[in-house]
Amino acid sequence: MTARIIDGKAIAADLRQRVADEVARVKREHQLTPGLAVVLVGNDPASEVYVRSKGRQTEAAGMASFEHKLPADVTQDELLTLIARLNRDPVVHGILVQLPLPNGLDPRAIVAAIDPAKDVDGLHPFNAGRLASGLPALTPCTPLGCIILAKSVHPSLDGLDAVVIGRSTLVGRPLVQLLLNENATVTIAHSRTRDLAGLCRRADLVIAAVGRPAMVKGDWLKPGATVIDVGINRLPGGADGKSRLIGDVAYDEAVEVAGAITPVPGGVGQMTVACLLVNTLRAACAIHGAPPPAV
Ligand code: NDP
Repeated sequence: MTARIIDGKAIAADLRQRVADEVARVKREHQLTPGLAVVLVGNDPASEVYVRSKGRQTEAAGMASFEHKLPADVTQDELLTLIARLNRDPVVHGILVQLPLPNGLDPRAIVAAIDPAKDVDGLHPFNAGRLASGLPALTPCTPLGCIILAKSVHPSLDGLDAVVIGRSTLVGRPLVQLLLNENATVTIAHSRTRDLAGLCRRADLVIAAVGRPAMVKGDWLKPGATVIDVGINRLPGGADGKSRLIGDVAYDEAVEVAGAITPVPGGVGQMTVACLLVNTLRAACAIHGAPPPAV
């Protein structure tokens, strides 16, 4: 049996369209144009690509996009001053500081300075704490995307055995909370976990967010399991001398065992920016006192 391929590209395109429809509605009914400010410090080429793509997709959804590019030697105080200004700016409803930041800047302090109501990356301790308490919160975009992809296979995750590999604040930890909210039974694995293969073999849903190319092997999976591969690993040997992208799952093996699987690229990566648009729209409605959008 070959697994069903979960088409992140199509699911993300559908989500972006639903966001665009809701943006058009809130503009019409509430005279509200959601606005997203993205702050890029330095000139890391991968970050520049991400930021450009975020700006393009924000505008395509009918929202306002504000890009702030700062030199790598900007001081912590200068960056904090910009964030304070964006916190006060009424046309900005979402603030995202592109990570990683250059050395010398403290990402925790920068993220903590963002108004939690505008924290569309969901990384502020206020939002992380609300999520962990089971309260409504702005939640990190990649985990949100993983849940949508998993639900494209299992409309209800109720009672499923899920294993999340990775416990970062960006992906693994919030993902566990979101899965608990969906009533999955969750195990979180990390570099100290014993018998990771055995753990995965018992799971209905395996989500890998590790950063190690092709670590999860086909024989780690229960036949028919759903596999969500968050990993983005750049290896040499792609077309035109460029790098090629490899997930954390050994795709060619896993596709023969799993029931459904996300490809890399074309899976989770596509969902992250689409979920950022969702969060920006939700933040804008909440700040404006409009009812929550239907996405
Ligand atoms: P981090 O490096 O912050 O976390 C990696 C996690 O994997 C850690 O918890 C670590 O454990 C765990 N780990 C490392 N080695 C092993 C191992 N041998 N066995 C089990 N667990 C292990 O990474 P991120 O969470 O930020 O990202 C993970 C991956 O997802 C990366 O490839 C990244 O590029 C990708 N990513 C993709 C996104 C997308 O949009 N698709 C967005 C964000 C990330 P420990 O805590 O013990 O060190």
